[in-house]
Amino acid sequence: MNTLEKVEILGRSAQYDLCGEACGTEATRKRDDLGRWIYPAVLPDGQRVALLKVLLTNVCERNCAYCANRRSRDFRRVSFTPEELARTFEQMWRRGQVMGLFLSSGVCGHSGQAMDRMLATVEIIRQRLAFPGYIHLKILPGATQAHVERAMQLADRVSVNLEAPNPERLARIAPEKDFTTALLEPLRWVKRLREESGGRLAPAGPTTQFVVGAADEPDREILATADRLYRELNLTRAYFSAFQPVPDTPLADHPPTPLWREHRLYQSDWLLRKYGFAFEELIFDEEGNLPRQSDPKTMWAMAHPERFPIEVNRASREELLRVPGIGPRSAERIVRLRKRGKFRELSDLRRVGAIPQRAAPFVLLDGRRPAYQLPLWG
Ligand code: SF4
Repeated sequence: MNTLEKVEILGRSAQYDLCGEACGTEATRKRDDLGRWIYPAVLPDGQRVALLKVLLTNVCERNCAYCANRRSRDFRRVSFTPEELARTFEQMWRRGQVMGLFLSSGVCGHSGQAMDRMLATVEIIRQRLAFPGYIHLKILPGATQAHVERAMQLADRVSVNLEAPNPERLARIAPEKDFTTALLEPLRWVKRLREESGGRLAPAGPTTQFVVGAADEPDREILATADRLYRELNLTRAYFSAFQPVPDTPLADHPPTPLWREHRLYQSDWLLRKYGFAFEELIFDEEGNLPRQSDPKTMWAMAHPERFPIEVNRASREELLRVPGIGPRSAERIVRLRKRGKFRELSDLRRVGAIPQRAAPFVLLDGRRPAYQLPLWG
């Protein structure tokens, strides 16, 4: 099999791993002129780049119930050698087709052997080929502390995918993985090593991913775990991947998770990370899920009429961030621009990037409630 076919197969196998903002699957990926899949990603500094997202191998010893690469599935198995993949990446980088790499792998042999091969690949890329750009490296479950440290020396970002929010849920979908020792422990090492290095190792920080809905877990469990990881292990980002059933797996008949659920999780995650919300402030339904009918911030605002309306011309940045339709950037612009003149009309809010129709029921503009039309749906 030639290299092009391998990239095609192992790029497709990597589609379920999310590696950044706008790191899409079917909808946003593109083919290069040789037909290879390239994925867009937004780097931690906001720069948008094309990444080669690929597995070193889709051979795996494990049998995770949701995974297309599980060992008992019958499909074409393919592997790169470290040299082969490094050279393929070099060719694409030198031609300007990609600016970074996201590398993951199935667990071929035991975890240690698979990590050794991933590290060997990135060592060639960094040391022999002198690639200075962005690399995101997956830490496989069961990797040793030495693997984690080496990965952090080589990569800008490392990730450990929890897949489920706690040991009980993980046991339902990946009984061969130990939540505490194989997944949480490596994230603890990452935290300690980053602190000891003053942030020099893996400077873009660690991320994780959840397969949403595969273990029938409610949103509350996922967000409680993400919130703890942000606070206690300095996680940089959690990614949420709506479960989609894969043929010939134990979950083939499990209903797919609707994409709106993934969207609500991301909105709530932003409230925790960027808007100063505490986990306890999020509003869940009786089953512990985020309601579909409205976004989480609007749900919170409607549940707290005592906090509104707020006067846009006097409110603090923190108060502005509580208003639906006003985000961190628009809140900052409001605070800056109102020194030059009062905000009097909804169009003034639009000018700073806020969404006036969503903000209108919750604000006063120079002492007056703005006129607005109720939306037909949320
Ligand atoms: S270890 Fe990873 S690649 Fe292997 S079956 Fe589980 S999720 Fe899939």
